[in-house]
Parts: sequence; structure tokens; C-alpha cells
Amino acid sequence: MHKEENFQTVTLIAGDGIGPEVTAAACEVVLASGAQVIFEPVLAGMAAMEQTGTPLPKNVFQSIKKHHLVLKGPTQTPFGGDYRVRVEMENAQGQTEVRSHPSVAIALRKELSLYVNVRPIRNYPNVPSRYENIDLLIFRENSEDLYTGQERMIDANTAEAIKIITASATQRVTRFALDYMRRLNRQRLTVGHKANVMKMTDGLFLKTAMEVAKPYVDIQMEQRVVDALCMELVMKPESFDALLLPNLYGDIISDLAAGLVGGLGVAPGANIGADCAMFEAVHGSAPDIAGKDVANPMAAILSAVMMLRYIHQPQAADRIERALSRVLADKKDITRDLGGSVGTRQMTAAIIRALN
Ligand code: ATP
Repeated sequence: MHKEENFQTVTLIAGDGIGPEVTAAACEVVLASGAQVIFEPVLAGMAAMEQTGTPLPKNVFQSIKKHHLVLKGPTQTPFGGDYRVRVEMENAQGQTEVRSHPSVAIALRKELSLYVNVRPIRNYPNVPSRYENIDLLIFRENSEDLYTGQERMIDANTAEAIKIITASATQRVTRFALDYMRRLNRQRLTVGHKANVMKMTDGLFLKTAMEVAKPYVDIQMEQRVVDALCMELVMKPESFDALLLPNLYGDIISDLAAGLVGGLGVAPGANIGADCAMFEAVHGSAPDIAGKDVANPMAAILSAVMMLRYIHQPQAADRIERALSRVLADKKDITRDLGGSVGTRQMTAAIIRALN
């Protein structure tokens, strides 16, 4: 039998800015760990725009529809202007229609129905941070809220955006969060919202989440107004177990939470749907440090570790985590943001050497 028959193919999007450097690091570490995966690279983002005229060419979806698994680097979204990501997709009636989205990441999450973004935030030994004992799971609703791209200029001085919250999307993300927590034996889920002001939209999110949670008697539900939640996260982050957030607050609070444990270089993430999953770090393309061999590859590597667990390859995932812990403990081969002085490539090579 050919060795690669049991291997899982992963669509690989290197992305923009530091994306190619950190995804190369993640792929090298995964392949060296003995994981049974093969990477199929496709081009998306600014590089695809330059080469093909579109940031999200058709072959990206063709590859993902075949393999159902993606490892993604950050893709850059230009500020302002009329930048839109247009994709040609088949609708329920089998007709081709053109749909447009504000960014590559949003287009992929939406078109692949990746309805939840899971972002584990925890302290890693020897990663400098202001806090200790943080072990927080963030569940961010991924498909609606203010991120559906329904924005317009009413006149030159007035703009509006539409915020959409549905009971069905809130139910599925809440169920996902509660089932995920049960598997990990987690006990308390805090819903973040602004239902005191956004009475209908956030009010529906809060009410629906609380209703869905009723049969989950083993998980304690709490709620916080999102501004107060931000303050509490900064004052006593270790007191939270898991957070459930609508899309916009989830985006913002994920970066805040990454800052609590050492910065964007250490925060991994997963976008999960019913039949497809895409793993990507919380950080963006960081153009300020791109191409300089200084980016921390940890977040991308830990996103790949989440992917290996998702495809039931826990031995390879454990090996990588152990190797990373050794490199962090040794403190010799760590990037600048972690208090070290080596580059992305040297840290990656050290992690590969530490695999056993
Ligand atoms: P984008 O527009 O794609 O979101 P950005 O620069 O606005 O990019 P991030 O990429 O999320 O936002 O990063 C913010 C800052 O955090 C970067 O400018 C960089 O200095 C730092 N940073 C992000 N990721 C890393 C990393 N992997 N290693 C080291 N520093 C990082």
C-alpha cells in the first residue's frame, strides 16, 4: 500500500505579510512531527490579486471543497476604499452567482459556513506576561453581526452599517461552545453582549444563548455587558473559563486576550463548520515586520496543533507542544516578542530539533 493513502490533505494558504514565514514554519514543524498530512498550497490574498486579478481565485474553493481542511496564514485587507472580495458560487438552485465580501477571511468563513471561531488563550511557561494562570476559551460567532458587509454611504458625511443577529446562528454557536466545553470538562461560560443598548440584536443573542444552555445543567452560564467584561478581563482574567461573543466583540476581545498572555504571536485559532475547518492564528499580516525573519511562528504552529487534534492525530500534536515547551524553557531560540533575539527560522529549527 502506498504510504500516503492514509494521509490527510490540507489546503494551505500562506497569506500576506508575515503569513508566508509563519505558515512555512508551521508546515515544517508539522511534517517533522510525523503527522500524516500533505499540504496543497493555493494562492489567496494580495499575492493572488497581483497574479490573477482576484484575491480569492476559484481553485482555492475547489481545493477546500475536496479536502475540507485548511491551514491559513493572515490575508491583508486594505483600509477604506471599495475593496471587495468577489466570489462566483453556485446557489441552492444550481445557478452561478457572484457574491461579495469585505475580506478574504470573511469570504472563506461565510462561503464555507465556518460558523464558529475558537480561540484558546492561555499562559505558556516562560512566555513573558503580566498575568498567570490564564486558561480561557473564546468562542466567537463567525457569520453575522456587523461583519456581513452591509455598509453604505447615505451621503458624503453619513455612513451606515447593518448589524444582523439571528436566533439560528446564535443557537448553533452556543450549542457548539457548550458541547466543546463538555468534552474538555470546562464549567463556566460567560456571554458578552451590549443588550442594555442594542436591545434587539444583542438582546436576541443573550436570550437565545441562555435558552440553549438550559439543558446543559453541568455548565454554569453568566453574562456580562461587554465594556464591563473588558475591564474585568484586564483586572482578573484568570477568573474566566470561557467566553461566548458575537462576531465584532469576539474579534476585539480575542486581541485583548492575546495581549494578556504575551501578545499576538502566541494566540492560535480555529474556524469550524459542519463539514469543514480552517485553522489560522489570531494575528493579522503585520506588514511592519513582514519579510524580516522576526515574526513569532508560535501562533501559526499552535493553530496547526489544533488542526492535528481536530483530525485525530493527537500524538503529533503532543510532540509539537512538548518541543515548543522545551524551546520556551531553554529561552535561547525565541523571537524578540518573547524576550529573545533569534529569527522565525532559527526558532522553527530549534522546535524541530526538540521534537522527540
Ligand atoms: P492586518 O491588517 O493584517 O490585521 P495588522 O498589522 O493591523 O495586520 P496584526 O498583524 O494583527 O495587525 O498585528 C499587530 C502588531 O502585532 C503587528 O504590527 C506586530 O508588530 C505584532 N505582531 C502580530 N503578529 C505577530 C507575530 N506573529 N510575531 C510578532 N509580532 C506580531
